[in-house]
Amino acid sequence: MDFELNEQQQAVFDMAVGFGQDAIAPHAASWEEEGTIPRAFLVQAGELGLAGMVVDPEAGGSGLTRLEASLAIEGLAMACPSVSAFISIHNMVAWMIDRFGDQALKDRYLADLCSFQKVASYCLTEPGSGSDAAAMKTRADVTNEGFALSGSKSFISGGGYSDLYVVMARDGEVLASNADTPAAKAVSAFLMDDGSDGLSFGAPEKKMGWRAQPTAQVQMDGVKIAKGQRLGEAGRGFVYAMMGLDGGRINIAAAALGAAQTALNKAVEYAGERRAFGQSLDQFQSVQFKLADMETQLQASRIFLRQAAWKLDQRASDATAHCAMVKRFVTDSAFEVANQALQIHGGYGYLEDYGLEKIVRDLRVHQILEGTNEIMRLIVARHLLDRG
Ligand SMILES: Cc1cc2nc3c(=O)[nH]c(=O)nc-3n(C[C@H](O)[C@H](O)[C@H](O)COP(=O)(O)OP(=O)(O)OC[C@H]3O[C@@H](n4cnc5c(N)ncnc54)[C@H](O)[C@@H]3O)c2cc1C
Repeated sequence: MDFELNEQQQAVFDMAVGFGQDAIAPHAASWEEEGTIPRAFLVQAGELGLAGMVVDPEAGGSGLTRLEASLAIEGLAMACPSVSAFISIHNMVAWMIDRFGDQALKDRYLADLCSFQKVASYCLTEPGSGSDAAAMKTRADVTNEGFALSGSKSFISGGGYSDLYVVMARDGEVLASNADTPAAKAVSAFLMDDGSDGLSFGAPEKKMGWRAQPTAQVQMDGVKIAKGQRLGEAGRGFVYAMMGLDGGRINIAAAALGAAQTALNKAVEYAGERRAFGQSLDQFQSVQFKLADMETQLQASRIFLRQAAWKLDQRASDATAHCAMVKRFVTDSAFEVANQALQIHGGYGYLEDYGLEKIVRDLRVHQILEGTNEIMRLIVARHLLDRG
């Protein structure tokens, strides 16, 4: 067993750290203030292969492993977890099209998505159903041309900003063949273009963190969808959405880890400089112990995360449970580390200029989205108990 990154993995990580420090870090505060990520920056990220990281190179992707992609997300998040996670969500949709789409959908979308000429959003959550996602109400009624989508999706990252939305909806065709189809098996995934008639967006949400990314409700009122825009098989949309989230959760954890590492680095530096009671903070054993615990949390997170990404690459039978465990463990640990780093900074940690309060605000949502950390425990417990 070799715990070192190989040359390619290290190169991906170093590239992402460097790009993050050059192209994101100087702007992270102003993008947060403006509530949006410039398109030109995304195109630059696309040129570095960060837009279709795990998509087949033949379709324009970078063909990275999940482990390599997680290293890229971790490296970018050292500059800003919000921007890094936005890139992750787009990559999740690109992967879903590559994995489940037919050739016509791949030809239509992947080149643009893999270069960030187009940006994609993932639409599962609804106002009345978050954790219990299969209880969704959005429906795809059958029409002569294909389908008509009606319903609302809430909290959509990139809502009103993206060019393409993958929408999970109750498929009228499936329900027509069997009205008693269980909720999750009645869901299909549909690709909806921005600008479609009947598509509108709620006002941008005002959020605690992740402010650089626009988040809004996506509202559909009979949006016409051609038959060929249904992704993959009818009734498999919920499975596709969950499979997308396996990789998504690895990346949400990786983004939290990268940002928490930045918080720890800042805390170590600050503890060496700031003096109290005649000595620097890092001379107090209680501060040393705190730093030691933070370092241990991040080392444990890193190794656990990389193992889960490797399991996903191997398509291991327990990969989904590991993705859930890692999402829960790493995002909780990272939030705690960031919060402790803020504490070590005292009052200065609470000020915008020191960069700590943004990391704490940004990382809070990593414990909530792509499945709350309670739902992650549910997935792990199910896996554990099923096996017994
Ligand atoms: C900034 C942001 C961006 C987001 N981006 C997207 C996006 O791009 N696409 C998308 O589809 N969604 C997105 N989401 C939605 C996110 O995934 C949901 O908010 C999340 O899944 C939780 O759903 P909910 O908010 O409806 O909470 P609920 O499901 O109502 O849960 C409320 C509380 O109850 C707990 N709970 C629920 N069920 C159980 C249970 N069985 N056992 C124990 N506890 C339980 C939850 O853990 C939580 O603490 C985003 C959310 C935010 C905040």
